[in-house]
Amino acid sequence: MHAIQISSAGGPEVLTPAELPDPEPGPDELLVDVAAAGVNFIDIYQRGGTYPMPMPYVPGLEGAGRVLALGDGVTGFAVGDRVAWSEALGSYAERVTVAAEKAVAVPDDVPDDVAAAVLLQGMTAHFLVHDTHPVQPGEDVLVHAAAGGVGLLLTQFAAARGARVIATVSTAEKEELARGAGAAEVIRYTEVDDLAAEVRALTGGTGVVAAYDSVGRTTFDASLASLRRRGMLVLFGGSSGPVPPVDPQRLNSAGSLFLTRPKLFDYVATREELTARAGAVLAAVADGTLDVRIGHRYPLADAATAHEDLQARRTTGKLLLLP
Ligand code: NDP
Repeated sequence: MHAIQISSAGGPEVLTPAELPDPEPGPDELLVDVAAAGVNFIDIYQRGGTYPMPMPYVPGLEGAGRVLALGDGVTGFAVGDRVAWSEALGSYAERVTVAAEKAVAVPDDVPDDVAAAVLLQGMTAHFLVHDTHPVQPGEDVLVHAAAGGVGLLLTQFAAARGARVIATVSTAEKEELARGAGAAEVIRYTEVDDLAAEVRALTGGTGVVAAYDSVGRTTFDASLASLRRRGMLVLFGGSSGPVPPVDPQRLNSAGSLFLTRPKLFDYVATREELTARAGAVLAAVADGTLDVRIGHRYPLADAATAHEDLQARRTTGKLLLLP
């Protein structure tokens, strides 16, 4: 099969097209024909060595496609079923094995590309807004990188719960997308001197109840300074780099703040939670509540270009690789 392989950590150039044998489904695994693989920022952290990986490996965690074969002991799935997944390393390939307990059924009215585009980022947006800080109607919340893959979905979920979303983006095109997703206010954070002052001005001096920060190094201080008393900083990524160590006393001085660093895999750890969360996201897609923007599609062999574009802030919405 055609696949992308990585033999040593590095830049986008280490994503190398390769011919590999088809994987064999082990016990409790599905062999799936990949219709589309999702590109996520975690793929960049793994590729670059931030998260050490066994070498060589086929990258990619997410995708959607059709079941080709069942390993021993699989129940609940049949050959031909349409499935999606967000935790199957090796998804940048024509075929991948997926643990049956990590696969979810795709409803008939959700196309493969949309399922591959929404599962990981949609479930992320879902847990952040419903569980990490359960957004309440009328709350002011800050969403960074709001025109990105997670950002557009997070903005839609927060707005749907009645929040007033203050979004940050880097360009006019991204501003338009954030507004289309429901952001009430948009700040071009690359063009302002004091981001927290802008957020405070938009909230009558009070600050936001929650700041959803996936940008990390360059936004962390402004996110903290944008919070109201007892507000929560939800640091869920580091697109601009990791945040240096933080003195907990800062949370005290700035108003009894909360800081959390959540990850999706702890919010879909059981089969029950995974199917409930995936079901909620796919239902929101099917009934039109959630608009999934597939910003960029690349042939599988162009995975390096996809990573370059994502890292260089050239993308909006979701990036897909098509085998
Ligand atoms: P995005 O589509 O959001 O792409 C990243 C965006 O971050 C860019 O488009 C850019 O938007 C902004 N950005 C700001 N500074 C930089 C920089 N220096 N370099 C690159 N981008 C920058 O990616 P994803 O939706 O895939 O992921 C968004 C974030 O969410 C990532 O940090 C990822 O790790 C995190 N994440 C966390 C999860 C979790 O469970 N904790 C799960 C899924 C994602 P702009 O041009 O507008 O500034």
